[in-house]
Amino acid sequence: MAVVPQAVLPISPYATGGSELSPGASLVQHSGSLMPPGHVVAPGFIDIHTHSDFTLPLNPKAESKIRQGVTTEVVGNCGFSVAPALPGRAGMLRDYLAASAPWLEFHETTFAAYMDSFPATAVNTVMQVGHNTLRLMAMGMENRPPSTAELALMQDLLAEALEAGVLGLSSGLFTAPGCYAAPAEMHALGQVLHRYGANYSSHIRDEANSVFAAVREAITMGETCDIHVQIAHLKLSGSDNWGGAAQLLAEIETARQRGVRLDCDQYPYTTATNPLRNLLPTWVQEDGMAAMLERLADPAVRTRLRHDIDAHGLNNFGRIPSWDAVRIAISPHQPQYAGRTMGDMARERSCDPLDALCDYLIADHGHTRILITCMDEADVQTIIRTPSVLVGSDGTSLAPYGITGQGKPHPRFYGTFPPPAGALRA
Ligand SMILES: [Zn+2]
Repeated sequence: MAVVPQAVLPISPYATGGSELSPGASLVQHSGSLMPPGHVVAPGFIDIHTHSDFTLPLNPKAESKIRQGVTTEVVGNCGFSVAPALPGRAGMLRDYLAASAPWLEFHETTFAAYMDSFPATAVNTVMQVGHNTLRLMAMGMENRPPSTAELALMQDLLAEALEAGVLGLSSGLFTAPGCYAAPAEMHALGQVLHRYGANYSSHIRDEANSVFAAVREAITMGETCDIHVQIAHLKLSGSDNWGGAAQLLAEIETARQRGVRLDCDQYPYTTATNPLRNLLPTWVQEDGMAAMLERLADPAVRTRLRHDIDAHGLNNFGRIPSWDAVRIAISPHQPQYAGRTMGDMARERSCDPLDALCDYLIADHGHTRILITCMDEADVQTIIRTPSVLVGSDGTSLAPYGITGQGKPHPRFYGTFPPPAGALRA
């Protein structure tokens, strides 16, 4: 990892009461004080959890990060990476990632060739390869265990990426196709990570009603494979699970105490962002986008979806107070709806919110990205005060203009680092 330059940053433009210093400004100007009023002095921040591999090739200036003091980004999280793309499968990867990287071009590539072609960027970029991408390459969106040959292919692709210089493997077990993988598949990949002394980061299997079991699965992965594990954006999602942060953190601390190499990251917000389709039960995505869109038009499927959501809440996000908690962020084919909530759109059409959601996904080709307010502020505060939890934006590098300035992105893309910096100073 490269050495990061020193940055002098206003904690908040409102806290300074006067002039702001620009990153890299000389400290000598400030009468020998190492900490001008309203500012913190810090090395450039490492944003440990981002998805800027989706945007840096489109705008390498990384302005939304640089202006927060971030100088290094770890990309390729939650099981999603832009490479490798095997011959004939780049289009499938483009469609799969369209709700996250709607403007990016996809090509057939090895991981090494992808890294070679990655542009020079304003931030240092540390890569990970994603398990969802590897599984997509090996076996598409099929809900079954891999054959011996398919598992070997995933292991080979992982080793190839590690040889090319990635930090490790990320997983996104909360959504298809990663959710179709049993722990045994992950352990087989973990053995490759162990051989290379590489890391494993995970958007765990569930962040709502089964969050404790999902954290335990990540801990077991670390113990069984003897690898370092990072749990992504630690949270307790869904109103049934609010208030459980201290107990969850205690389990994590117990594992750390017995020697499991385990860290977590977190973004300081009660709202998450994800592709809209990932809120639905995972069976709806089986066999890929075309199959999902056909299913969503079927009234019998909608009845089953309604039943599953009533019984268990939303996939990964649990129970929400109402559909007003779900807001369109980026909608490649219907950009005029960015900022509207699902509740609002259902009322306007005088229809059931689940019908509004299914109709919306069909019209947007499955590519819609949403914001979902699903966490408890007290839990967020408890987690952020924990020393083993790192700050990670889970956001992409953007600019308020041009191709990456479209839609209504999550505020964490611009605002993750100033609140913790302010809390540190306090
Ligand atoms: Zn994630």
